[in-house]
Amino acid sequence: MKGPAGNPAGPFPVLADVTYDVDVAVIGAGQAGLSAGYFLRRSGLDFVMFDHAPRPGGAWQHRWPTLTLGRAHNIHDLPGMALGEHEPWRPASEVVSEYFARYEAAFGLDVRRPVEVSRVSDRADGRLLVETSGGQYAARALINATGTWDRPFWPYYPGMETFRGRHLHTANYRGPQEFAGKRVVVVGGGASAVQALLEIAEVAAATTWVTRRPPVWREGPFDQERGREAVARVEERVRRGLPPASVVSATGLLLTDEVRAARESGVLRRLPVFARVNPGGVEWADGSAVEADVILWATGFRAALDHLAPLRLRGPGGGIVMDGTRVAADPRIHLLGYGPSASTIGANRAGRGAVRAVARLLTGPGTAGNGPREKIVTAV
Ligand SMILES: Cc1cc2nc3c(=O)[nH]c(=O)nc-3n(C[C@H](O)[C@H](O)[C@H](O)COP(=O)(O)OP(=O)(O)OC[C@H]3O[C@@H](n4cnc5c(N)ncnc54)[C@H](O)[C@@H]3O)c2cc1C
Repeated sequence: MKGPAGNPAGPFPVLADVTYDVDVAVIGAGQAGLSAGYFLRRSGLDFVMFDHAPRPGGAWQHRWPTLTLGRAHNIHDLPGMALGEHEPWRPASEVVSEYFARYEAAFGLDVRRPVEVSRVSDRADGRLLVETSGGQYAARALINATGTWDRPFWPYYPGMETFRGRHLHTANYRGPQEFAGKRVVVVGGGASAVQALLEIAEVAAATTWVTRRPPVWREGPFDQERGREAVARVEERVRRGLPPASVVSATGLLLTDEVRAARESGVLRRLPVFARVNPGGVEWADGSAVEADVILWATGFRAALDHLAPLRLRGPGGGIVMDGTRVAADPRIHLLGYGPSASTIGANRAGRGAVRAVARLLTGPGTAGNGPREKIVTAV
């Protein structure tokens, strides 16, 4: 890419009235974006990477400190460099952030940060206009790897606004200490809800767990066949243009010794979700009620794709019709970490596949592009 080199937020600011031409723009430098960056570097294509977070680490830099490496499910290696052995008691946020920083340096991935991508739209010349807080770019292809962390999902229940206690989403959960002596209702049937309950129950005055559906517990490790089945289920949904379902809906909740003990002690006794929230707590349709000081919404996240809205990718099913990582209706655009690639292992594979497809699209017969290291700048 031509133009002033370096991080736009650093000592070489990009020029506001210039649009920089690139072959590929990568949005997001988490597991999926870095994997794409690795394969792009090898492909010789001209690319630029943006991330609005202050530091390397993707969403992992924001995870709560009590999510230790030992408690994370399984953090898969990025291509070309192993995470290595680390003490299981260290916060995953620290270890993964250090790993991603080493990775970016080792493979020369010049992630521009903190740079917010606010809008991607079509240009008349067939390129995509990528508008960022660090300048404008005209890209021939887009690899979007923006994850979900930036879009915590809050369902609505009647009376929520009347609650005198505190509403908290897991995105802002920092560990159990602040719940000492409190009555806590945890909403949600995923792994985050279970982990939070196990920790909070040790210090809280009382905990109540509510989920929409009864949880499905899974015995033993997740072997390859079960992994393939789970991925196929998620893939099938996004191929039909439905919004991706949560990972746990495909994999079930892992039964560890800690979880078994909590089930026996009653901490994981689950109730259906309440009908409404009242000023003092929550209540069910049959009139039963629980008093609460805090409602912890472990209700997950949605794909952070608002900046792609001008492209009108969403269909009538509420999701984006996908063909693998490629948007079915637009071969220039790949979504990594969306649907079946929303895990550290899935994101890796998706990076390789997306870069192959983009390279074929941009360097195949009849295409004319920037080419490796070719430098073009167009004025706005
Ligand atoms: C609590 C929790 C625990 C998890 N544990 C595991 C686990 O143990 N194992 C596992 O495999 N998976 C786990 N997952 C799933 C996990 O999110 C993925 O595995 C993986 O880390 C996601 O990588 P990603 O690159 O797709 O997204 P992210 O890591 O979220 O990276 C997206 C990046 O995009 C950037 N970004 C977003 N929007 C913009 C924008 N508009 N402009 C610029 N930058 C932007 C963000 O700053 C971020 O750095 C967990 C998820 C959660 C919520």
